[in-house]
Amino acid sequence: MLPRIPNLLSRRWIALLAPAVLAAASMSPAHAADAVPTATASPAAVTSEFDGQRAFGYLKSLCALGPRYSGSPGMQQQQALIAAHMQELGLQVERQEFDGPRGRRGATPMANLIVSLNPAAKERIILCAHYDTRPRPDRDPNPRLRTRGKFVGANDGASGTAALMELAQHLRGVGGRRGVDLVFFDGEEFVFTQRDRYFLGSEHFARQYRDEPPQHKYAAAVLLDMIADKRLGIKYDGFSNRWSDSRPLVDEIWDTARKLGVWEFTRSEWPTAVSDDHLALHNIAKIPACDIIDFAYPDPLNSFWHTTADVPENCSAESLGKVGRVVLTWVRGRLGVAGGDSP
Ligand SMILES: [Zn+2]
Repeated sequence: MLPRIPNLLSRRWIALLAPAVLAAASMSPAHAADAVPTATASPAAVTSEFDGQRAFGYLKSLCALGPRYSGSPGMQQQQALIAAHMQELGLQVERQEFDGPRGRRGATPMANLIVSLNPAAKERIILCAHYDTRPRPDRDPNPRLRTRGKFVGANDGASGTAALMELAQHLRGVGGRRGVDLVFFDGEEFVFTQRDRYFLGSEHFARQYRDEPPQHKYAAAVLLDMIADKRLGIKYDGFSNRWSDSRPLVDEIWDTARKLGVWEFTRSEWPTAVSDDHLALHNIAKIPACDIIDFAYPDPLNSFWHTTADVPENCSAESLGKVGRVVLTWVRGRLGVAGGDSP
């Protein structure tokens, strides 16, 4: 279950990590705790299976920053944390900046973050998540908390972000014809009223790709959202399941889940169509896309979604690990590296 990384290259990565160990020592305790195991890991460990526990550590570090809605201090700290994490792995973070809605103090600054693995490859796959959190827990059962409560988005925001941080560990050495872009979308839900628009980051990203086509072409996009529910259940999202260019992608991923025995991926559809960042990627950028989402958090009768109960205590490292293993195995298959599923 190892990707195709020559030993020599792996050792070089470790050598590159040495300064990062020193850097980690001066970081916040929460992040330093995450960084040290990475930096001291053996080459084999670095390329091993998706580690749900380690990913859960990232989820907790992100939530410890507090609310991370677009333009907030928590968002800035999160951007620094992700940049430091990627730097430790020898990876660069590209900021795709754009203006969000205008408020009294001008436009809200927003930025998608893009981490390119094997950047020279012309055929690429997007693994993505939104990393902003909703400004308010406006579905909280307590009406007072809907405007005044704290929303840290452990499942809705941090879970996908943490998964991308863990995936970077495993995919950073990828070579060959194909590459991966890890994309963190801003402005997915910078919404205060019914009139506010969702998906600002993914729409910006998709329009850029359409209007100023880059050298590379995206073959597929997989969105991760709300994937750490303790009672994990992943159904088809109603859009990608019906898009003829995306349905084969959905089948590949669900087939991989079946082969891995991750039975939480079920072959039924969410009763309501799930609008999410994958819509822009498909409809504007014309990329086959799908959304891996557990919309019943924790179950259809009870929901922590957009409430103050969306906290790490209501999430699970095991669930995060299951989804992560499916995605990593699928993408390795698509990249044609060891440890992947052959379609
Ligand atoms: Zn949300």
